[in-house]
Amino acid sequence: ASLFASVEMAPRDPILGLNEQFNADPNPKKVNLGVGVYTDDQGKLPLLKCVAAAEKQMSEAPKARGYLPIDGIVAYDKAVRGLVFGAEHPAVKAGRIATAQAIGGTGGLKLGADFLKRLNPDAQVLISDPSWENHRALFESAGFPVDVYPYYDAANRGIHFDGLIAKLKSSKAGTIVLLHACCHNPTGYDLTDAQWDEVIAVIQAGGLVPFLDMAYQGFGNGIAEDGQVVIKFLESGLSFFVSTSFSKSFSLYGERVGALSIVSESAEESGRVLSQLKRVIRTNYSNPPTHGAQVVATVLNSPELRKMWEDELAEMRDRIKLMRTALVKELSAAGVQGDLSYITRQKGMFSYSGLNAAQMQRLRAEFGVYGVDSGRICVAALNSGNIQGVAAAIKAVM
Ligand code: PMP
Repeated sequence: ASLFASVEMAPRDPILGLNEQFNADPNPKKVNLGVGVYTDDQGKLPLLKCVAAAEKQMSEAPKARGYLPIDGIVAYDKAVRGLVFGAEHPAVKAGRIATAQAIGGTGGLKLGADFLKRLNPDAQVLISDPSWENHRALFESAGFPVDVYPYYDAANRGIHFDGLIAKLKSSKAGTIVLLHACCHNPTGYDLTDAQWDEVIAVIQAGGLVPFLDMAYQGFGNGIAEDGQVVIKFLESGLSFFVSTSFSKSFSLYGERVGALSIVSESAEESGRVLSQLKRVIRTNYSNPPTHGAQVVATVLNSPELRKMWEDELAEMRDRIKLMRTALVKELSAAGVQGDLSYITRQKGMFSYSGLNAAQMQRLRAEFGVYGVDSGRICVAALNSGNIQGVAAAIKAVM
């Protein structure tokens, strides 16, 4: 028999598979609200001006491409640490935080998972119910059993906070808790400040291990505002993990720019942690690629380009908010009844619409409107040209 006779066809990725279906659809009015990608009001994926300016600088002084250090570009790691934790924070100054460049936010999560598996092979991982599809698969592929904590409360269109807390309280010490630092994917519902305080207290009391996934910093309320959760964890004195993605915030999806930061108790401990993290990297892909991280480092380390980035990110954030308000207006105009304020309460790229799988399938088949079967739609892909049609289609399947 052939070597591969027993290889079964894997199921399509729920989100990227939807993209393939979208690309094959001949409907000229089709709208892709499936994948989490920001497009501008013309429906185009932006190339940020700060990125183009950084690339121009880089091309004017071209550099040879030697191997990078295992943990990436030093100036990049430092800039990311400053962005995520604050350059002047005592924990940063004390050298308690190790940051390594990673292959996107996904790479940061995988490095953290592999590191944790070596540290505590018998731990369990908790992710939110629901969560980004890849969370479960990532941690399972690192060898962990993955369970969920209650998160979405469909009846109240919000967060099942009591359930979340109860689950954390009943978890064993050492349990790894994956938390969305802001702009929860897929629901768009984030914890309040007071709720974060309570989560941190329970994590601390139970000896749990927090892992913050920060894939949308700046898409919620602002760069600093969204980063407050990380600072809260830092102030608590806990040791924890943060994965960072610049895919969305720099519109650099294809460059795979991200990082993993690990907060520990002392500089000495941090040195040992980084040495082990580097072994994880070395045995996976040796060292990371140059271009995307060089772009981000150039932008973050130049006051002028950084200002440009902050303005462009604010523009994306504001446009998404505008689309949320417009969606409420268009749905009401199309005759959808009831309280739609949840759409503007949600943060980030997504809205959990409350539509079921059958309705989402009808949206695709009859109207060419592509969202995820869970009811998640990407608000960041709405624009003044497609929003009326989308609202009418949603009304039609309700
Ligand atoms: N975490 C979450 C919650 C995400 O939504 C995403 C991207 N969709 C990632 C991580 C991964 O980001 P990246 O594309 O940079 O790997």
